[in-house]
Amino acid sequence: MIPFLDVGQTYLELQDEIDAAVAGVLTGGWFVLGPEVELFESEYAAFVGATHCVGVGNGLDALHLILRALGIGPGDEVIVPSNTFIATWLAVSYAGATPVPVEPNEATYNLDPRSLSEAITEKTRAICAVHLYGQPAAMTAINEVADAHGLHVIEDAAQAHGARHALFEVGNAGVAAAWSFYPGKNLGAFGDGGAITTQDEALANRLRALRNYGSTVKYEYEVQGFNTRLDEIQAAVLRVKLRHLVRWNQRRAVIAQVYREGLMDTPVVLPEVMDGADPSWHLFVIRSLKRDALRAGLHRRGVDSLVHYPAPPNRQSAYAPMFGDRCYPIAERMGNEVLSLPIGPHLSVRDAEAVVSAVRESLVQSG
Ligand SMILES: *Cc1c(COP(=O)(O)O)cnc(C)c1O
Repeated sequence: MIPFLDVGQTYLELQDEIDAAVAGVLTGGWFVLGPEVELFESEYAAFVGATHCVGVGNGLDALHLILRALGIGPGDEVIVPSNTFIATWLAVSYAGATPVPVEPNEATYNLDPRSLSEAITEKTRAICAVHLYGQPAAMTAINEVADAHGLHVIEDAAQAHGARHALFEVGNAGVAAAWSFYPGKNLGAFGDGGAITTQDEALANRLRALRNYGSTVKYEYEVQGFNTRLDEIQAAVLRVKLRHLVRWNQRRAVIAQVYREGLMDTPVVLPEVMDGADPSWHLFVIRSLKRDALRAGLHRRGVDSLVHYPAPPNRQSAYAPMFGDRCYPIAERMGNEVLSLPIGPHLSVRDAEAVVSAVRESLVQSG
């Protein structure tokens, strides 16, 4: 069986380093907002190219706190992709604002800058761009539209650790970026974790208060905050893993290349890489009109695959009361056609070649 993901494998690979890092925290006896979080924050800020990094409990909270720190709330609208993971929308709802979906470009699966203007109203405060599947969103064009309308640009970089673009820095191309360290992400903790990067010092200070009950000085509360902090054990683990992220992403890129070359002449739609982009390849997503048959064929041949995501957020019961039967056709169609092939540092080139063969055989069989 070729597994889709193997989050335990990184531990086995780095066992000595990780054991030492975790033991260091346990014997140090300091578990929340301490030296490991501070060190990770400065190391991750440097990795991204940002001046500030604020560790938080998870990626959803990272997005939520950014919106709060920008003063976005009830009566405000925030533009989100119609085809993103639901957390992007939930963060807007948490803040009391309204998510306004905009459809993606069908080639890149990312927010289509050409569709932004028609979604902007006098209530719009921000655009939340998602680097979906680890492909950098069209930040230059998105920023142009945002600047013309005086809007904040927020990056949901939860799938884009280490993604690069020649014309802008991923995670540093808007007012702030949200990162998730959920175990399955390119940089994953052994539990939940998240962070915010920004160049804006005042914003970073508000975020530091918001993650910690609204306080930066013990027992003084500037605002009504939350409790959402990256903990010391996860930060210690992330510091170790960060040193291997570039190498792991390179392995993902090699797998992606095997897939792209091996499937070029088949009827499946392959992911398109924007000019200047160097994706993190969080997911390798193909499209097929016979997606379900293909997935079943892969399963029979011992290849795990997943669908990201089967139905857009507006189709979920969580948002049905708000959106009724409004339809976002591109997101809808993607939900029916997309299929994620296994990708990650747990796979060898030989595994990737086996996946290619399994896809080709399954396509022949399903006609
Ligand atoms: C994983 C993810 C999130 C949420 O991160 P959590 O740490 O799971 O809360 C948000 N947006 C996107 C695009 C994600 O993939």
